[in-house]
Amino acid sequence: MKIYIDGKYHDRADARISVFDHGLLYGDGVFEGLRIYNGKVFRLSEHVDRLYRSAKAILLEIPLAKEDMERAVIETVKVNAKDSGYIRLIVTRGEGPLGIDPLQCGRPSVIIIVSGIQLYPDEYYQKGIEIVTASSRRISPDSLDPRIKSLNYLNNIMAKLEARQAGCLEAVMLNREGFVAECTGDNIFIVKNKELFTPPSYHGALDGITMRTVIEIAGSLDIRTCEAALTRYDLYNADECFMTGTGAEIAPVIKIDGRQIGDGTPGRTTRQLMDKFRQMVCQ
Ligand code: PMP
Repeated sequence: MKIYIDGKYHDRADARISVFDHGLLYGDGVFEGLRIYNGKVFRLSEHVDRLYRSAKAILLEIPLAKEDMERAVIETVKVNAKDSGYIRLIVTRGEGPLGIDPLQCGRPSVIIIVSGIQLYPDEYYQKGIEIVTASSRRISPDSLDPRIKSLNYLNNIMAKLEARQAGCLEAVMLNREGFVAECTGDNIFIVKNKELFTPPSYHGALDGITMRTVIEIAGSLDIRTCEAALTRYDLYNADECFMTGTGAEIAPVIKIDGRQIGDGTPGRTTRQLMDKFRQMVCQ
């Protein structure tokens, strides 16, 4: 495994950054998770665009032009000779003194890791996944915009812990007003009367690239999608439910808070979307 750090490649054991990097000290930085399918990086420019939007929002100047960043990602995939896998692209605030002031930091660091990932075991894609609602609420968009994909995931980690303590792999998070926001590392959709519904980003959802891909696929199947306010009532009464994310792809949900969703198996629309998604990424 060769890891890219600021233009140089390092073996895994030698890939190190400073303990004074504010990415480590304060979670000050941004990142992306991307997938490699058939040797190609899926939706590379969309991910890089989102990375630069996240960085702009936190006044972090990435020391590479977007085209150079895309080239660096492609080159790191080549260096690692990976035909399929996962890429973690990270930009940290860089080294600085122990205070939080980001303006005291030097040059931001760019890190690219090419690896494998399997978020959920295969059987969960066939049988579906049980999730719970976390009591930890999503940080309000007026405190931290959910569209910023930052290195600080503690809010989501708190919810993930609740899921694990409840014997589940994922949790759904509500916003402060009690509307559904998203899962700890995935967006959430429901299917009701053959239409798709997913929460808007102003309710606390990341503007997911897999979510956008699913909306696109749904459009090609004449399935309407609506970004809508959802409550737990809507989840419990959904015909189908699934999660989307770069790592998870499309993962069917069959139980929420002990309530069966639909007939308790991955629904027809969900399976249709999963099939089309697979076809798309295999092309
Ligand atoms: N929400 C959160 C909190 C995430 O971390 C992610 C990415 N893992 C997603 C949603 C899904 O986004 P994407 O489809 O762009 O990977």
